[in-house]
Amino acid sequence: MINITFPDGAVREYENGVTALDIAKSISEGLARKVLAANINGQVWDATRPINKDATIKLLTWTDVEGKATFWHSSAHLMAEAVETMFPGVKFWVGPPVENGFYYDMDLGDRKMTEEDLAALEKKMNELAKQNHAYIRKEIPKAEAVKYFTEKGDEYKLDLLEGLQDGQITFYTQGNFTDLCRGPHIPNTNFIKAIKLTNIAGAYWKGDEKNKQLTRVYGVTFPSQKELDEYLHMLEEAKKRDHRKLGKELGIYTMDDDVGPGLIMWMPNGTIIIEELEKLAKETEADAGYKRVVTPHIAKESMYLTSGHLPYYADSMYPPMEMEGERYYLKAMNCPHHHKIYAAEPKSYRDLPYRIAEYGTVYRYEQSGELFGLMRVRCLHMNDAHIYCTREQFAEEFRAVNEMYLKYFKIFGIDKYVMRLSLHSPDKLGIKYVNHPELWKETEEMVRNVLIESNIPYIEVQDEAAFYGPKIDVQIYSVIGREFTLATNQVDFSQGRSFKLQYTKPDNTTEVPLIIHRAPLGTHERFIGFLLEHYAGKFPVWLAPQQVKILPISDKFLPYANEIKSKLHKANVRAEVDERNEKIGKKIREAELSKVPYMLVVGEKEMNEQKVSVRRQGKGDAGAQFIDEFIKMIVEEIKTRKSE
Ligand SMILES: [Zn+2]
Ligand SMILES: [Zn+2]
Repeated sequence: MINITFPDGAVREYENGVTALDIAKSISEGLARKVLAANINGQVWDATRPINKDATIKLLTWTDVEGKATFWHSSAHLMAEAVETMFPGVKFWVGPPVENGFYYDMDLGDRKMTEEDLAALEKKMNELAKQNHAYIRKEIPKAEAVKYFTEKGDEYKLDLLEGLQDGQITFYTQGNFTDLCRGPHIPNTNFIKAIKLTNIAGAYWKGDEKNKQLTRVYGVTFPSQKELDEYLHMLEEAKKRDHRKLGKELGIYTMDDDVGPGLIMWMPNGTIIIEELEKLAKETEADAGYKRVVTPHIAKESMYLTSGHLPYYADSMYPPMEMEGERYYLKAMNCPHHHKIYAAEPKSYRDLPYRIAEYGTVYRYEQSGELFGLMRVRCLHMNDAHIYCTREQFAEEFRAVNEMYLKYFKIFGIDKYVMRLSLHSPDKLGIKYVNHPELWKETEEMVRNVLIESNIPYIEVQDEAAFYGPKIDVQIYSVIGREFTLATNQVDFSQGRSFKLQYTKPDNTTEVPLIIHRAPLGTHERFIGFLLEHYAGKFPVWLAPQQVKILPISDKFLPYANEIKSKLHKANVRAEVDERNEKIGKKIREAELSKVPYMLVVGEKEMNEQKVSVRRQGKGDAGAQFIDEFIKMIVEEIKTRKSE
């Protein structure tokens, strides 16, 4: 018998040679139907592979990243089998899972693959999947593997074999297809219920353009048709909601060759959104006891040597500029400047927690190939702040920061989010992590407790902390389910030491403060990119660049329209009049397209009754209202930052 330890710590005895699938069955048949693979002693294994010694186990299903990866990699094998039936003699290179699906690189000789072939391949894959072939693992001596692929005439697999050691080589077979592969794989092809081959591309062998160009076929598969349909719908929506397309259509931002790649210029409409976001942040931070600061965009080399950004982070910084015999750098983060503000006046325990905030502009060097719309840029405006506190204050401060995140999520209608708690690894203390084992233990424990107590969904990952402390990466999901990394919430017990920051304790000794780095709204660039997709450009009234468009039925009602406009302006509502001599139908259509939340149609009847005919964008006629009533309503809607 062997002992199997489950994630909750429970230990159960099983016969030697038991498989993860057997173990799942011993729990429930329903679970067994969902198990794709298992994490055995930290390694992902086939669910059907016998376990021959005591082990820890985590059963992996579709909801686990590794479960999905196993599913998609197995789908790549299935695709290869289908390709082989249609293109006999095809040779395969590698077929890994990727973020959303999988691909396989192949050498089709002088044949070409077309879009029509993809449809036929999908059909073939569906047919093969239904035949319910098991993925069978076989350990194989190197000589035998070499013989197999020599006979097959496959120089690519022979090349892969060269780098492998005898005794570690495995073949996987499903149906009529055998591949050199270290696995793992799902139990059988019948798990794969929905298939979409998405793209054909060229890819140089080993990524080297001097090598032969292979054909790369991308695909994605799901355990049900429903999930595939949802995925395809999401892709379609994402295309419509593309922040680059909407950003241009709505006059949010622009870029220019003469300014440079990755340098965003915010146009008037985008600037309104920025100002509203900053207003929200300033109000929220003032309520939470933050003070605001302003710092320059550059600093001397010596400061970044102190902070450790130089030389370690130099690749992500702009090159220095020389001035008066000194080297200056554009700032890539605001922390060092803030530490200097902390240090500018002596601090005692009474001054803590000391919270300073700044919408700081930072410059980061991203390779030009990596730049992407608002998501990857070279100049960012960050919702930054640093909290300097004692160890006793830490948990409370950290909790307050988390609550701020949740408050923002509510305002922006972000229903789905996950926090990823990155921890250190004790065997890398002093190498990858600052060597303060107790502080690590203490802060990690505190952070974990805050997450548990606040009921925040989170996952823990080992060995991914920052050099100077544990961190939380916040992932948020737009309404169409796309994931964005928003910001990091970080604990830091090292920079305080580097900058010789301290405070006096009640007994007159000194101590280094803990520092929390936080940026709940991330950067304007990334957050507005997210919001454009999230709202499909239809911003809630408080954020909308233009809140009201007044549409007079004819020129005769222009004076009344302008009277309404000035009333709205007095109430701090952003309003414009469509003064063109156009048909009202056209004015309404165009206002709808520009996504202004409210349209006020005015004609004879409205003027005589001091009313407006209200239209809500996307929802049509909302009836007539007295102008003062309308103003009262919209002002309230703006003030409360109503999301719908
Ligand atoms: Zn494989
Ligand atoms: Zn910082």
